[in-house]
Amino acid sequence: MKVTDVWTSGQRPTVSFELFPPRSEKGAVSLEKAIDKLAALKPDFVSVTFGAGGSTREGSRQLIEKLKSEKSLGVIAYFAGYGLGPADITAVLDQYQELGVENILVVRGDPPHDEKKFRPHPESLPHASDLMAFVRPKYNFCMGVAGYPEGHIECESKEKDIEYLKLKVNNGAEYIISNYFYDNQYFFDFVELCKAVGIDVPILPGVMPIFSVKMMEMLSNLCGATITDELRQGIDALPEGDKEALVDFGIDFAVHQCKGLLEAGVPGLHIYTMDRSTSTVAIVNRLRKDGLL
Ligand SMILES: Cc1cc2nc3c(=O)[nH]c(=O)nc-3n(C[C@H](O)[C@H](O)[C@H](O)COP(=O)(O)OP(=O)(O)OC[C@H]3O[C@@H](n4cnc5c(N)ncnc54)[C@H](O)[C@@H]3O)c2cc1C
Repeated sequence: MKVTDVWTSGQRPTVSFELFPPRSEKGAVSLEKAIDKLAALKPDFVSVTFGAGGSTREGSRQLIEKLKSEKSLGVIAYFAGYGLGPADITAVLDQYQELGVENILVVRGDPPHDEKKFRPHPESLPHASDLMAFVRPKYNFCMGVAGYPEGHIECESKEKDIEYLKLKVNNGAEYIISNYFYDNQYFFDFVELCKAVGIDVPILPGVMPIFSVKMMEMLSNLCGATITDELRQGIDALPEGDKEALVDFGIDFAVHQCKGLLEAGVPGLHIYTMDRSTSTVAIVNRLRKDGLL
């Protein structure tokens, strides 16, 4: 089912989870366990990331196939076009079409960490809006793009970033999934800015549960999500080195954040699971118990 149809036909906000293909045997075993627990929550759909430069091409395909055929889950297949030429782009998307994928999310991607080994194709496309313009006329997928409540880390200004987001929508994007944020006000302001420029597609907020301070700092540094004073103070007040207390704090923080988003009428919640299930299961169960999902 197309995700836009899920939003128009549904009576309640959707719940969806992001997964990435495992990078090791150990990762594969823990993902397998996580998938079973996440699938038991009956999400409206799950998404699968795609490594820029095609680095997870086979892993992404295998995970999509597993989620669709073994777990009967609705899937959004992400596609990052960084460095890929037209033939590679269509090869990946043709394969997704053959797998019966109905939804994709088109992102630019970033250069792989080991850039020395990777040579971008000379005809690769510089921005997600260019990718949208290239793939939209060729495929029937329901297509989404990424949005950044605090502005993309490279953007000249939030206004310019929204202008480019509008271009992605004009080029055929039917929904937006947002980067995560730790203060809902960033998301609410972003939605207002989008509306002001005429972006009228559903905007799904991304929520990132906190379970490791090191990972939170590393990821937030990479994607420009502000670690707010309130969040920092909450973490500083926890017993030092108490991992369980941090996970519980992260769950409480995310539940509070999700309640605020749901009360504001978001179309759903997209949880960045990091291929783990504990926090996500607790968050969704708490929201369901409170009748919010
Ligand atoms: C929900 C979500 C899912 C993601 N999934 C993946 C994934 O699976 N794989 C992966 O590798 N990465 C993924 N990313 C990360 C993403 O690839 C990076 O954030 C990347 O840096 C930007 O991608 P984009 O599609 O937003 O790029 P773009 O929309 O191209 O924007 C990138 C930058 O260029 C600017 N810009 C855009 N268009 C123009 C233009 N025409 N002229 C000048 N400047 C312009 C923008 O303001 C922005 O600063 C995801 C991000 C999100 C939020």
